[in-house]
Amino acid sequence: MEKKDEVKKETRVLEKTLQDLARRRTAPVFVFVILLVLYFAASITVSLTAGSQKIVMFGDNAISVYTFAGIFSSVANLCIILMAVFCGKLGFIASVGVMLIQLPMILVGIFARGNLTSLPGIFGNILTIIAIIAIYRDNRKIDDYQKKLREHATTDILTGLPNGFAGTELVNELLKRGKPFAACTIDVNNFKSINDTMGFDIGNKVLIELATRWRKIVDEGPFGTMNFLSRINGDEFSLFIWDFDSEDTVGETIRLYRSALEEKIHVEGYDIFIDASFGYAICPTDADDRDSVISNSVAAMKEIKRINSSEHVLRFTEDLLKNRNTLVIDNKVRKALENDRFYFNLQPQYDMSHKLRGFEALARLKDEDGSSIPPDDFIPAAERIGAIDGIDFMIYRKASSFFGELIRKTGADITLSINVSVKHLMKSVFIDEIRDLLKESGIPARQLEIEITESIWIESPEKAAERLKKIKNMGIRIAIDDFGTGYSSLSYLNSFPSDILKIDKSFIDQMNTGDSSKKYVEAIISLAHVMDFEVIAEGVEEPDQLETLRSINCDYIQGFIWGKPLPQEEAERLVTGAG
Ligand code: C2E
Ligand code: CA
Ligand code: CA
Repeated sequence: MEKKDEVKKETRVLEKTLQDLARRRTAPVFVFVILLVLYFAASITVSLTAGSQKIVMFGDNAISVYTFAGIFSSVANLCIILMAVFCGKLGFIASVGVMLIQLPMILVGIFARGNLTSLPGIFGNILTIIAIIAIYRDNRKIDDYQKKLREHATTDILTGLPNGFAGTELVNELLKRGKPFAACTIDVNNFKSINDTMGFDIGNKVLIELATRWRKIVDEGPFGTMNFLSRINGDEFSLFIWDFDSEDTVGETIRLYRSALEEKIHVEGYDIFIDASFGYAICPTDADDRDSVISNSVAAMKEIKRINSSEHVLRFTEDLLKNRNTLVIDNKVRKALENDRFYFNLQPQYDMSHKLRGFEALARLKDEDGSSIPPDDFIPAAERIGAIDGIDFMIYRKASSFFGELIRKTGADITLSINVSVKHLMKSVFIDEIRDLLKESGIPARQLEIEITESIWIESPEKAAERLKKIKNMGIRIAIDDFGTGYSSLSYLNSFPSDILKIDKSFIDQMNTGDSSKKYVEAIISLAHVMDFEVIAEGVEEPDQLETLRSINCDYIQGFIWGKPLPQEEAERLVTGAG
């Protein structure tokens, strides 16, 4: 019972908004009452004055009271017409009723009392009735037109479901009443291909069939919930659910709509199997304003469509917003790669006496607005979309061309380190690429170093060892990057055909905070030396870190304390200045 009232209330709210859309012409009831009272007052005055022979003096003019009867009669008729025009159906019924009652009274007056002065009144009365009926018919036409207008404003013509506007109004009302609700965005999968292959006509029939199946569920109000389904556009629908006893009920309700698609749709001799993606968000748990709850449900719908899972129903989670960001970055990386927009900085590496050892080339990318996108964002994106070898190669090509020129000009005996992703290194073209670029740039192989992380061992240690050996045989040096953070550790060093360990910044950061961290770094350095590796400490920022590293025989450092990543001109100045 309560539910029914609720539906009625909801419908009334919608109806009221729609009425506001169309120009309202019906006057409030009190206007009707005033007109009616005025009418009776005027009519009584008419009957009191009609038979009077009295004369009233207005200044020098003598006017018979009888004359006033005509004026009041016109006022009475005017009230009747105004009622018919402005007071809707009630006004129409009252005015016709009054006129019809008046008619026999006038006739009785004429024939029974022989009062012929009322004769013109009859014609007036009949004319007024005709005028009222004409006005009413006209009003009805306008009302019908307005009704149609209202329907158009809130109904989707194809399916007969409410449209997006009606849905928005409903959400506004639910929010106003502080009612928790779920917004679910439904998008039919591969609908475009139905339209493309079978034509719009069949596409439309499919949509109508979907709407019919879903409308049944809406009417049932599954699990005691209230449902409202609207068609937004094309193959996109919005479902709103409220009055659920728990948030789990929302998922169960939506799954009912999904299972309504399991049975094939039969249209014009075709059997069509349709599926759809359902994304939903619950207000206020997932978002507390209208636009966010709807856009979150769209994000969930897009995600479930993207991952192409057999589940088809997904609730919004915060992670999806991150995914949206990753999509943006992925696109930026793609575009930058196409437009050759990646460039590099060179971060100097020094021995402990502050003599330049060489540079690490670090990839850089600027957004279209000129702001920097950090490598920690674009490198994972590039790995995700399979563009990392493109970036590695672009940086390698640009950096080696610059570096080759630099060492030719200056004769400096310095090393260029480049970062190579494991995926890239494992590709068969890698060796050829690197050989070609060595030749083109003129860099002696011993002055080139490849930085690779320990994760290379995870997938295929044998293949990795073989690949690294080949590179080493070309005379190129190999550095183990971020040492200590990954797969590690020391036990693998034996089989890793490398030349140098780069101790990760996280160890350097902790080195002076506790004795054990310092001991750990010291142990790595000793062991590396025993195995004939050199060691670079990464991310050195503080003088006391530098001192400690000196005391435990570290070979090189790379860090902000002596040099940040530099643009190529500044790197060149550093080399020429250093001789
Ligand atoms: P990475 O190879 O460990 O590079 C060193 C990172 O530490 C660089 O960050 C560098 O700017 C930063 N760094 C160096 N010294 C200091 C210091 O004293 N303090 C602090 N706070 N940071 C320091 P960046 O340039 O942001 O690079 C991040 C990571 O991106 C690199 O870590 C590397 O893994 C990756 N990367 C950069 N360029 C390339 C590339 O061309 N190819 C591939 N595959 N990866 C790249
Ligand atoms: Ca590196
Ligand atoms: Ca590193």
